[in-house]
Amino acid sequence: MKRENIKIVITAGPTREPIDPVRFVSNYSTGVLGYTIAEEAKKRGHKVILISGPTCLKYPAGVKMFEIETAFQMQRVLWSEFKTADCLIMNAAVCDYRPFKFSTKKLKKGKKALNIKLVENPDILKNLASASMKEKKLVVGFSLETEDVEKNAVLKLNKKKLDLIVASKVNSRHIPFGYSKISPYIIDKYGRCEKISNITKQELARKLLDRIETLWYTTSTNRRRGT
Ligand code: C5P
Repeated sequence: MKRENIKIVITAGPTREPIDPVRFVSNYSTGVLGYTIAEEAKKRGHKVILISGPTCLKYPAGVKMFEIETAFQMQRVLWSEFKTADCLIMNAAVCDYRPFKFSTKKLKKGKKALNIKLVENPDILKNLASASMKEKKLVVGFSLETEDVEKNAVLKLNKKKLDLIVASKVNSRHIPFGYSKISPYIIDKYGRCEKISNITKQELARKLLDRIETLWYTTSTNRRRGT
């Protein structure tokens, strides 16, 4: 297959939603998979933009970086970078909720209980994938669930109008966060589901980019043929 170089926007890591100047709501994402995909895409000659939440990782060489903290900051960068992208790989673990109010002063301890009201964040991926600027761009999402992994992934693929989704099971000890090997499903919009056992994040990055390049080549060939 002839490889075309494309512009790939990748998001990675968690978002942090601040409560006060010293505390936040977040999740266990390390960003390793997103950074590994960015490195592999760069190695293959693609133009890579990496939008990253807070991580301890070194920037991949030759990649244009944006550092963000909150879901709203990620959304702002994505709305401008997505316009000219050929593919979006939405690997970031975006917080579904944020504190309703940010306290500019540190909340004091000493209360028996503290209620923090959370409100829903925008679903960035869903909004982008259904926007008119989606055009022929390929959009890839990720899913983590404690149960019904495959069924929930298919629901998200359809609801968010994705081309591909990578789904994994997470257990109550938050495994596989921080683990080097995972056992994901890769499901595409044609209903094909591949279950993969125990692969490294590097192997998954390669597999995913192979799938994206094949999809891109097929859609661009169809476009040239006018089908
Ligand atoms: O619905 P769920 O949050 O499980 O979907 C996960 C996918 O949606 C991931 O690709 C994640 O990056 C994206 N997402 C998003 N905006 C949110 C929550 C998740 O773009 N507020």
